[in-house]
Amino acid sequence: MDQAITGHRTTLLEGLPGKNGLYGQDILAVSQFDRENLDYLFALAERMRDVVETDGGVDLLKHRVLAALFYEPSTRTSASFIAAMERLGGSVIPITQGVQFSSVSKGESLPDTVRTLEQYADAIVLRHPETGSVAIAARYAQKPVINAGDGTGEHPTQALLDLFTILEELGTIDGLTVAMVGDLRFGRTVHSLTQLLLNYDVRLRFVSPEILRAPLDLTNKVRDAGYDMRETYDVHDVIGEADVLYVTRVQKERFSDLAQYEQVKDYYLISPALLERAKPKMVVMHPLPRVGEISYEVDEDPRAAYFRQVRNGLYIRMALLAAVLCPA
Ligand code: ASP
Repeated sequence: MDQAITGHRTTLLEGLPGKNGLYGQDILAVSQFDRENLDYLFALAERMRDVVETDGGVDLLKHRVLAALFYEPSTRTSASFIAAMERLGGSVIPITQGVQFSSVSKGESLPDTVRTLEQYADAIVLRHPETGSVAIAARYAQKPVINAGDGTGEHPTQALLDLFTILEELGTIDGLTVAMVGDLRFGRTVHSLTQLLLNYDVRLRFVSPEILRAPLDLTNKVRDAGYDMRETYDVHDVIGEADVLYVTRVQKERFSDLAQYEQVKDYYLISPALLERAKPKMVVMHPLPRVGEISYEVDEDPRAAYFRQVRNGLYIRMALLAAVLCPA
């Protein structure tokens, strides 16, 4: 490690609260996170924000290479990992499903693809349509593998940026009422964020049509942990008490029966009229893309936090890459 990098590390990575513990690790699921490494990551993400705002970035990961392998479409997650790596002075090998002539489209197995890519890269970011596939890839790879979404399973880096956004917007996570709205069955961001919130003292509300209810193993986990939680079909039941309204889209691509999708796709709409009944300091969040569940007029409301949430994804992914690739 050269002197310049050591110097930046001194400024950026020292004196942080909590504990890193993520160096050299795969990032597969939110169960890997606790208050100590969350405190560390959030404080580091705030430093990353300052660095980006003042200098655009810092050469902490100079000469480091990330392979970004996306077997499912992605706009924000892939762009934000690329921006994060480049703002830390590193570079990215982007491989997407649409790339023709790559081995991925030639039917090479996932284990072979990751074992090949790690010969070039220091870490691999992987999105895949099958739940559990990223964990399988990580078993074969020697280098850290970061889960960028595995089917309807988990999306841990989204959950980290969601939690960081709540903290940045409301100054605390403890004591809040968080309402998840929409496709709670297939929405992997909901699955990850809910479990991450179990590190805090929160009340949880789940709002969805019957066929999109959160999986039982998730709601049982919340209930068994003793949390104040409630499920409802109607967002009006929770709008007055929510501090965070976490809205998700109905994920058409996950339905095997499109008639079912048609039944529920317009089930709810977050509108200015609905927000009149909400707390003045509530935040509306969304992992994006939205496909009609939040009306565009809501964008003018200062409580609409979804584009600030996107920005926070950059800082969190910078912090996570630094935590995984730099010994503390
Ligand atoms: N972007 C999020 C995800 O990849 C949410 C979504 O696609 O609806 O899971």
